[in-house]
Amino acid sequence: MDIIQPFILEDGLFRGSFIAADKTISLATGCHSYPDYVNDIIAQLILTGLFLSSSIKYEGTFTLQIKGDGPIQSVVVEITHDDKVRAYARFDETQKPKSAALSDMFGNGKLAFAVSMLGKEPYQGVVALSGDTIAQTVLNYLNQSEQLPTHLLLREKNRLYRGIFVQQMPAKKDKTPEEQADLFETVGVLLHSLTNQELFSDIPVQNLLFRLFHANQLTIFDPKTPAFCCACYPDKIKSYLTHFPKEQLNNLFQDDKIEAQCEFCGQKYTFTRKDFE
Ligand SMILES: [Zn+2]
Repeated sequence: MDIIQPFILEDGLFRGSFIAADKTISLATGCHSYPDYVNDIIAQLILTGLFLSSSIKYEGTFTLQIKGDGPIQSVVVEITHDDKVRAYARFDETQKPKSAALSDMFGNGKLAFAVSMLGKEPYQGVVALSGDTIAQTVLNYLNQSEQLPTHLLLREKNRLYRGIFVQQMPAKKDKTPEEQADLFETVGVLLHSLTNQELFSDIPVQNLLFRLFHANQLTIFDPKTPAFCCACYPDKIKSYLTHFPKEQLNNLFQDDKIEAQCEFCGQKYTFTRKDFE
């Protein structure tokens, strides 16, 4: 299942999304041959990235990346405004992480996100990894730095991943802060009451959300479909290479060829001297 299913609760006091990206994750990781612990991080980052990117308006590319000094040096996920996803990782194959805790995988790690839009200054944010999971890091960031009260449920079962988030919108005048806080807590209790059996069942997403939130003025919007897509093509890589100083470009030639490989999808491209004349 690949779906971003947006909804609102309590007359717009909360907004949320159900997110699944099975085929997207499988294709984005399948074009690499990474170990399972790296693929697991990529999957979590894709789901979290889809959640963050679906809650902002932009036209361009949203990048979510973790950098560290542990066995995994970096994991990068890129998502376009039309939900096209691609990802890659860099890691040290000789060092296997001791556990799945973020600190064992990334050492001193940081989560960074950036939004690059055509003709506009990119927007960036950086936060230290905290807690054992990516979801926990993002929650700490949203709840503390951005002061956007958010619930985020992110679970894995048999290498399938499902996420639901609910976020409080700017305060409504018709409810006191206490009433809003109570509702936020109630919604969180309902969300976390969801069993894995329900979350990973074949129940249509709309029905699942109705079961959970039928008493919370649930309104469901049109779903969107995330998909794996790499935007690389020969001309783009060639134009990147032409930015190298001539001498450096010359040094890249081996047997009169430059072999370049897209980091995101593994596609190989070969260029000859003629390509740069
Ligand atoms: Zn590519």
